[in-house]
Amino acid sequence: MKPVIALVGRPNVGKSTLFNRLTKTRDAIVADFAGLTRDRHYGNGKLGDHEYIVIDTGGFEPDALSGIYKEMAKQTRQAVAEADVVIFVVDARAGVSSQDHDIAKYLRKLGKPTLLTANKAEGMIEGGQFTDFYELGLGEVLPVSAAHGQGMRLLVDMSLELL
Ligand code: GDP
Ligand code: MG
Repeated sequence: MKPVIALVGRPNVGKSTLFNRLTKTRDAIVADFAGLTRDRHYGNGKLGDHEYIVIDTGGFEPDALSGIYKEMAKQTRQAVAEADVVIFVVDARAGVSSQDHDIAKYLRKLGKPTLLTANKAEGMIEGGQFTDFYELGLGEVLPVSAAHGQGMRLLVDMSLELL
């Protein structure tokens, strides 16, 4: 069985861009689940010697009570349940948000292996200061740039090392 990696984070941090980087093709397998507003997207990936499955998710609001956000939270929870490891994506440029704290709290409680990743870090990776993200209580943060394809090998290596 290939390991399953779920990409989780608030909207607009670059999860789908990362998904496209980590999967060879852009035509992800789309899984339809009755009643869900947004589908989860599955893709096959291979980087170096590693083969894996990636699940993209919509933006996650753990305490969303209604509407589309509730559905997105539900499908994200399902994706996380299916995953062997979670990549929690935050925005290196925007810094820590209250939504990030909510998601971090959920992931800490869950106890599933989680790698904290600060995306959009192009031009910041060398000597960048990412220590603010330590307050999320998930340990080290790995800076990457999905848009520029920086840090991808390390991201996959470190994620799969958590297994
Ligand atoms: P999602 O909502 O988390 O899936 O985020 P998207 O993948 O849709 O990306 C949201 C926005 O961030 C888009 O405008 C992307 O082009 C931009 N983005 C994604 N990755 C990067 C990155 O590495 N660097 C920069 N500067 N922008 C990025
Ligand atoms: Mg997306």
